[in-house]
Amino acid sequence: MSTKTHTHGLESSGIQLDPALPICQSDLPLDWYQKEFKPYAEEYLALPDRKPKTVLDWLDGYVRPAQAHFGDQLLLVAHFYMGGEIVKLVERYGGAVADSYQLALAATRHPEAKVIVESAVHFMAEAIAILAGEDQAVWITNPKAGCTMEMLAKDYMVLPVAEQMIERYGEKLCVIAYMNTSGRLKALAGRTGGAVCTSSNAAKVVQWALKQGKKVFFVPDQHLGRNTAAQVGLSQERVVALRDPQVLRGGFRFDDSAAVGGLRALDNAQMILWGSFCGVHTIFEPRHVRYWQERGYRVLVHPESRLEVVEAANGFGSTNYLWDAVAKAAPGSRLAIGTEGHFVRNAREQGRLRGVEVVHLADIPDPSFQSSGCGCATMSRNDPPHLAGMLDLLRRGTPPDANRVLAGDSVDERSGARERLDGAERALLVAQARASLERMIEITEATGG
Ligand code: SF4
Repeated sequence: MSTKTHTHGLESSGIQLDPALPICQSDLPLDWYQKEFKPYAEEYLALPDRKPKTVLDWLDGYVRPAQAHFGDQLLLVAHFYMGGEIVKLVERYGGAVADSYQLALAATRHPEAKVIVESAVHFMAEAIAILAGEDQAVWITNPKAGCTMEMLAKDYMVLPVAEQMIERYGEKLCVIAYMNTSGRLKALAGRTGGAVCTSSNAAKVVQWALKQGKKVFFVPDQHLGRNTAAQVGLSQERVVALRDPQVLRGGFRFDDSAAVGGLRALDNAQMILWGSFCGVHTIFEPRHVRYWQERGYRVLVHPESRLEVVEAANGFGSTNYLWDAVAKAAPGSRLAIGTEGHFVRNAREQGRLRGVEVVHLADIPDPSFQSSGCGCATMSRNDPPHLAGMLDLLRRGTPPDANRVLAGDSVDERSGARERLDGAERALLVAQARASLERMIEITEATGG
């Protein structure tokens, strides 16, 4: 193995470590760690503070030997939303921090990477695994790091409804699966001739399907679906959301009870939306937007926010769009950003270095609002001890199988219990899910990224 460490070239966020700021906002309780990770957590919890020097000196003892051992074969990746500072750690060690589109391409763009360690949510690691070669293994630092939006769109909820829709609408139905879905739903999209999408390319993918005269079943995020429909010019009357999966209580039927307006509205719809949502993005309201605009801030939001918030804002787009807006804002600019709290905190630090003021859209210093921004708690289940432990256990050749990610794995985010497909089932799922991911890549790259 090479002993050279390497910076893999997915797009760099340019995030820098501020030596004065603590490296982690809060520690996880010890009993949240898998038994193999507890020794690392105990050491971490015993450190005198969370300052970068203290944490990095400790992390170096695990990360550097693993990098020396694996060389170019090791690729570390994290998402922009990762619990505050883990993204800085991943970048510091030459890893890549990116949005979900770039992350999905991590394995294919880096065939030299044979050991891919992901510090983000499970569906992102699974998307990398779906596109990975046979000689590339994907590991997640904490398999319980899930996405609440995806948790309201498990295959056992969506597939029965989708089967009834396929029966009713036949080949006209095309499933578009947001990246925040399990591989099982990406396979459903592939099976219906559909595609995966991200928040940066959803409009292109939906337009592609509508141009073919398809009726789109968009899963899982109703808000991204609705915003995308507005963006491509669909009348909101032809966009119908299924009821909130939390109130369906196991009765996943596609009948008059499935949506307001019943089957008539559903038959007339050009886009049917699964009823899931992101709790982090649905806290935003138009009054938050107005508050900051009245004080001279430009408001930019993520399209997982509600339609009325997106319409009131000055701009909307993916995490890459939001990050770019901060990076390119002229000194003296003031931005209020409506997205995940850790991302905004990192953006605020980066903006401050250039004289750009960044605030979180829901952090309103007026007690009558009673509102404050929040981070993605499930994604933040990855932290420095998880990263140190994963890399050390891999180097020693004793990584827990629970942290290996294979296409089709279904993980219970509460217990960590995993249901794994057998080889033949997995091969079929990979073929179908890959088709939907590759279709997204084709559509995106054909139209200039
Ligand atoms: S921020 Fe929302 S959509 Fe993104 S991973 Fe967290 S729960 Fe899921």
